[in-house]
Amino acid sequence: MTSGPAAFPTPAETAGSSVTPPGAAAHCVALTKRYGTGNTAVTALDAVDVAFSQGQFTAIMGPSGSGKSTLMHCMAGLDAATSGSLFIGDIQLGALDDRRLTRLRRDSIGFVFQAYNLVPTLTALENITLPSDIAGHPIDQAWLDTVVDTLGLRDRLKHRPNELSGGQQQRVACARALAGRPAIVFADEPTGNLDSRTGAEVLSFLRESVRRTGQTIAMVTHDPSAAAYADRVLFLADGRIVDEMYDPTAELVLERMKAFDADVPHAEVSWAEPAYVPPAPATAYAPPPAIPQPDLALPIPTAIPPAPQSTPPAPIPVAPAPASAPAPAPAPAAVAPSTNGPAPDGASAPDAVDMANWTDADWDDWLARKQTEGPGA
Ligand code: ADP
Repeated sequence: MTSGPAAFPTPAETAGSSVTPPGAAAHCVALTKRYGTGNTAVTALDAVDVAFSQGQFTAIMGPSGSGKSTLMHCMAGLDAATSGSLFIGDIQLGALDDRRLTRLRRDSIGFVFQAYNLVPTLTALENITLPSDIAGHPIDQAWLDTVVDTLGLRDRLKHRPNELSGGQQQRVACARALAGRPAIVFADEPTGNLDSRTGAEVLSFLRESVRRTGQTIAMVTHDPSAAAYADRVLFLADGRIVDEMYDPTAELVLERMKAFDADVPHAEVSWAEPAYVPPAPATAYAPPPAIPQPDLALPIPTAIPPAPQSTPPAPIPVAPAPASAPAPAPAPAAVAPSTNGPAPDGASAPDAVDMANWTDADWDDWLARKQTEGPGA
């Protein structure tokens, strides 16, 4: 393993990086993802062009199997695209080797999972600071305080996950995703395992982080009431973006969903995601009670009305990436190479922050080490 920082390529080195739509925290051009080959091949994403504007909360909706999770995972660098270009800020994911990609994910992308993915032996605070601790990055205390207070976690920081409600655990997971000031947070059904009240809390907090801190968030949901917390809703069908809505309300989203269903009256269209099955309990982990997922149970947000927008912002044009010829190259704004010291892929924690890719064995190893060495190890 090499040491030292994995410097990102300059925009000029990542062909096409200069076509980043203005104000986009992340975007993709002609993103295609195929699983399998031959007769069994499935095109999960079919030449998708989409941009996620800085400071915007986007909900991604579509029938089950339409490609929502695949879009999230490809955009977050958790899954490789079959073709097309993906960018976080000005950095093209395809131009990065594994080490740089890991670093980009760690430093510039937050991910919130339906199943929280907290470490049971650590306190809420230790879970929140875990990525920075492992990476050896100093904690930005003022920012951490903002995140903790925005998420209402101040009096829960010393609790372990099994001492927290499902909603609190998901708020800790959100705080962990936000604490590193990522360019974008991807959230895959973050309220899918929560009852309506705690789901509404988490959605309010996500929206607050967009309003108050300018965070960019893209969230998969199948729930129109959850989508109503967003600034924009993208609708996927058969691996393509088929519609888009600004300033959504639950009613408008529901109407749009019904219109899709009417277009395919004989097809079995399911907007609900498969029920979440909690993982087998680890040593000190009490899984949250199984909560039925109501279709329309989340209350329409009232406490924090969305910022009035009389005219929807124009969609960000996504220009095709030039085949060659690097164009003028603005310095990467959202994803600047870190100057916080050496990359963390030292012997003690290779890729450790990249928990999304961890296997059960990775978790077991890491937890065993933590239990032996203590949280500060
Ligand atoms: P959604 O999140 O909208 O339910 P997905 O992105 O999970 O949809 O899946 C899109 C399509 O890709 C589906 O047809 C699904 O069966 C297929 N798919 C997803 N992951 C895999 C995989 N690992 N192997 C094969 N097919 C997959």
